[in-house]
Amino acid sequence: MSDKLHIVGGGMAGSEAAWQAAQAGIPVVIHEMRPTVETFAHKTGNLAEMVCSNSFRSDDDEQNAVGLLHWEMRQAGGLLMEMADEHRLPAGGALAVDRDAFSAGVTERLRAHPLIEVSGEEITELPTDGQWIIATGPLTSGNLAEAIRAETGTEALAFFDAIAPIVYAESIDMSVAWEQSRYDKGETEAEQKAYINCPMDKAQYEAFIDALLAADKTVFHEGETAGYFDGCLPIEVMAERGRETLRHGPMKPIGLTNSHKPEEKAYAVVQLRRDNALGTLYNIVGFQTKMKYGAQTEVFRMIPGLSEASFARLGGIHRNTFLNSPTLLDEQMRLRSRPNIRFAGQITGVEGYVESASMGLLAGRLAIAEMTGHSLPPVPSTTAIGALVTHITGGAEAKTFQPMNVNFGLFPPLDGVKGGRRGRKDRYKAYTDRAKADWQAWLAVTAPTEEAGAA
Ligand SMILES: Cc1cc2nc3c(=O)[nH]c(=O)nc-3n(C[C@H](O)[C@H](O)[C@H](O)COP(=O)(O)OP(=O)(O)OC[C@H]3O[C@@H](n4cnc5c(N)ncnc54)[C@H](O)[C@@H]3O)c2cc1C
Repeated sequence: MSDKLHIVGGGMAGSEAAWQAAQAGIPVVIHEMRPTVETFAHKTGNLAEMVCSNSFRSDDDEQNAVGLLHWEMRQAGGLLMEMADEHRLPAGGALAVDRDAFSAGVTERLRAHPLIEVSGEEITELPTDGQWIIATGPLTSGNLAEAIRAETGTEALAFFDAIAPIVYAESIDMSVAWEQSRYDKGETEAEQKAYINCPMDKAQYEAFIDALLAADKTVFHEGETAGYFDGCLPIEVMAERGRETLRHGPMKPIGLTNSHKPEEKAYAVVQLRRDNALGTLYNIVGFQTKMKYGAQTEVFRMIPGLSEASFARLGGIHRNTFLNSPTLLDEQMRLRSRPNIRFAGQITGVEGYVESASMGLLAGRLAIAEMTGHSLPPVPSTTAIGALVTHITGGAEAKTFQPMNVNFGLFPPLDGVKGGRRGRKDRYKAYTDRAKADWQAWLAVTAPTEEAGAA
């Protein structure tokens, strides 16, 4: 068993991991439960099925972090990007694909590979020996989820995400907002100033509640809501329960003094909390929501201090199985308690087709290196893939960890570039230039070879 790489789940991450390993000469078994065991979202037995949108989002590798991920995966010979390019549909700057042709193409290439075997079964236990990658995604089967939960503990495996919107720190207007923890709690100054507060007067609060109630919302999938409402009600549902509910919940103004206007008592306060160690991202505390994306930006920009806010990601609530990766995984994406198992894809707490595929690509390469006795230098966190893996394996706050899309807020800041909206174009170009150079350098020193596979 030890000479083969076993991959559980042939979705975005598992398919890419399998391709990377097989191309490097490592025999792979993909264990995929569909079509024998189904999920509520998948419709076929194909590998790499796109369950909802047919878009891999922006293909702009100079100004967009997702486009940069595309570029990095293309550079690394990624199968999913090759198939996406082959089955591309016209969609402006986005990379949209013919979903059936795309997943049929991935399936055909993987099944035809002499080193890849696809085994149609559900894996229900955590394997004790051999090299494994678990890439079972947001809809991991119940049996395997139970086994993971038994290993990691109840708190460390979530079944829903409840994502509050995340704002770029630099886009918050600090002439309106101020830093303070409620009742100045905390031993150090950093703790006493851990939150950014946005004050509202009564008229602003009432207008905000009206907008929340009127906003377009996404409907839940059948069976999606069971059991998740405890402790993470969408804000619009709280507002529906009573106009004052939010003011006594996440928007309560007590224990806070506006440093710009100490004599004025705010009627309500929206709090933002640091979301990453770099301090470039802040989440809006308790603001998980099912509002549609367009409505979210409109409604959240009504908050004083956020009128010019740029969002690294918008809020959402979904059925989603994911690990508390910052506590459970090492920097090589291995489960600390069972290092023969790596995790990849959405189950690690990244979000989206592209992010998941990229984590599969990396997990595949890390597994190849381990199986052939090589050790890879860490992926630079200045690259899109490196920024994501650094975030999930340590950069994110473990206590409030929620799934993350790739975005420039995850990248280490650059010295000497202009901040704010005006400098954005040059700044993003500088980020992507740096990432490309660093990714190419990393690939050059780590490229797996057929020779490695034969070792
Ligand atoms: C309803 C829904 C809508 C979504 N819409 C979008 C969207 O529009 N755009 C976007 O970018 N992302 C979307 N996502 C997220 C998207 O699913 C992921 O980003 C991406 O598919 C994750 O890739 P993955 O490889 O981690 O998981 P998946 O692609 O889901 O692959 C996991 C695979 O593991 C298999 N599996 C599960 N358990 C077992 C087991 N025990 N044994 C063997 N096989 C198993 C599954 O059958 C599946 O094939 C959506 C998710 C859901 C649930």
